[in-house]
Amino acid sequence: MGDLPGYRGASLKALSQQDVSVGDIILVKAKGGEFKGSLLPRYEYADDKHIVLKLDNGYNVGIEVSNIQSISKISEGKKPTFTPPPLPKIDNSLPKVSILGTGGTIASRIDYRTGAVHPAFSAEELYSVIPELAKCAQIETEAVFNIYSENMTPSNWTKLAEACVKKAANVDGIVIGHGTDTMAYTAAALSFALHGIGIPVVLVGSQRSTDRPSSDAAINMISAVTFAVRSPVSGVYVAMHAGTDDGSVAVHLGTKVRKNHTSRRDAFESVNISPVAYVKDQKIELKAKLPARKGAKFEARTKFEEKVALVKFYPGFDPLLIDALVKNGYKGIVLEGTGLGHVSTKCYDAIQKATSNEILVAMTSQCIWGRVRMTVYSTGRELLNLGVIPLADMLPETALVKMMWVLANFKYGEQKSMLQRNISGEINERSPLVRRPA
Ligand code: ASP
Repeated sequence: MGDLPGYRGASLKALSQQDVSVGDIILVKAKGGEFKGSLLPRYEYADDKHIVLKLDNGYNVGIEVSNIQSISKISEGKKPTFTPPPLPKIDNSLPKVSILGTGGTIASRIDYRTGAVHPAFSAEELYSVIPELAKCAQIETEAVFNIYSENMTPSNWTKLAEACVKKAANVDGIVIGHGTDTMAYTAAALSFALHGIGIPVVLVGSQRSTDRPSSDAAINMISAVTFAVRSPVSGVYVAMHAGTDDGSVAVHLGTKVRKNHTSRRDAFESVNISPVAYVKDQKIELKAKLPARKGAKFEARTKFEEKVALVKFYPGFDPLLIDALVKNGYKGIVLEGTGLGHVSTKCYDAIQKATSNEILVAMTSQCIWGRVRMTVYSTGRELLNLGVIPLADMLPETALVKMMWVLANFKYGEQKSMLQRNISGEINERSPLVRRPA
């Protein structure tokens, strides 16, 4: 059987009866007509009912297997390979950036001839995909992992933080390519783990892959690198396409950012603050006072306690869910309560059991915008009496990550005050008047 990546079931059966492989030029006679073209590989999760050809005119066509009358090979094609163009001349006067890859859409590159998707992570491949980068910085790359971000765990955050610590002393900035789904959690994790790092660490993703005309991968990456090497600031940020303007990328504080849309390129928004900067045409416009760059000597705290849960309250919530966490050895619970920070009185006993077992229980709001104020209603006051820790305007996801970090790095006596102390911009003293400031 030929080399037929991605094909399975009915489509694999139809192709394997002929001696054809991906890349071969084949002729398919089907009910709707005849199609001649190069056989494309299929994506891992594509259906098994179609075979896909790239026609001479450049279009891809999917032919339903049940309509196919015959398949024949016309000639052997070249197997999908990728030879990066020669490395552009490195300009040694440019600042240095380390680009760490973790996976996700931003990490992939499509081979237009074959349709195959490859990870693009050597410096050569990045330069070839985004040649503008060579004018911006000297680049070194390392693939730390290659996973979709829904598969990230706190131990991945630790590895990534350690990789940043290793690079920090030798580069002007670090850029991390990341899947968008959980990028905000990783940004929060690094904001705490790398607190005090003297350079910018910029996470970047893309909502649309590089094979789509509307892809935001290149502009996001160029802007992230620009910010990492040329901004006068330090700390952890997320750089993603901004809504107002096609060429503008917003830079968000790593503890105040959220993916708020499934598919729009401007899905990432700063919550309760404005984006801290914009990058347009490789020019940086700073919008906030941020920590300055300094020497990269700092104490990284890269551990995270995994036995922490983020629990969303809803009408009819069964307090047994809290009991189960207590019984299963959880060390912390972040509640995503209603409004100003409430859960029903039915949860009081379970919460009492948790706090008297030295489990940290903290409150955030599912409103997302605004801050918890637990002194306004009797419910809030009663929860405070049970030992629930109010977390001001901290995002629930940031609160989860912070609690994991606090539990792993500080003693019990210090944990509550660390949770409530602003470390990396996660707590604002005052909330802005407008919900989505410009
Ligand atoms: N599910 C993907 C991920 O988060 C989406 C993306 O790459 O942006 O890794």
